[in-house]
Amino acid sequence: MSEKSGFWREIARGAAGLAGSYRETLRHVFEAPITEQYPEYKRVLPERSRGRIILTRSPDGQERCVACYLCSGACPVNCISMQSAEGPGGRRYAAWFRINFARCIYCGLCEEACPTLAIQLTPEFAFSGPDLAAFVFEKEDLLVDHGGKDSEYDFYKHAGVAVEGGKGSHLDEDEPIDVRTLLP
Ligand code: SF4
Ligand code: SF4
Repeated sequence: MSEKSGFWREIARGAAGLAGSYRETLRHVFEAPITEQYPEYKRVLPERSRGRIILTRSPDGQERCVACYLCSGACPVNCISMQSAEGPGGRRYAAWFRINFARCIYCGLCEEACPTLAIQLTPEFAFSGPDLAAFVFEKEDLLVDHGGKDSEYDFYKHAGVAVEGGKGSHLDEDEPIDVRTLLP
């Protein structure tokens, strides 16, 4: 191959490459965009997404938290603190309850540890800011007026209650099964 024809071959190859790029660009100009702009467009996140934490209430409106300290014990970054107290009927509650969201890693271990479903993570994630002190949330910032993911659950109808019937007869309890039916 002569030097001259090789030169023109390279030119043709470069021009074809450029034409291909322009064709691809033009094709996308007339297509609907696939990028979703935030915050103009906000996706609805799954209910189990791990964002901002709340303290929920029982169906009767009482605070679910009994200040058992299990969530603060489970928290790997020690960002939960509280002080327990006892109400007139002997029901425990948190006199104060504090979460430092500047340290929280949204792992969900506090929610896993909670026996009363009081502490729950929500899909809300957009609450950033430059002031770290503003991320220390007190009980009044955390406490909501609903039951969150399981609004019907009432800890006091399950805990410390004598079971009168046989197995499977208690509130929300499944009938016992024969484990042999689960064998492969
Ligand atoms: S989500 Fe994890 S890091 Fe945040 S408060 Fe709960 S246990 Fe602690
Ligand atoms: S939020 Fe749950 S785990 Fe934490 S202190 Fe209250 S009842 Fe216990």
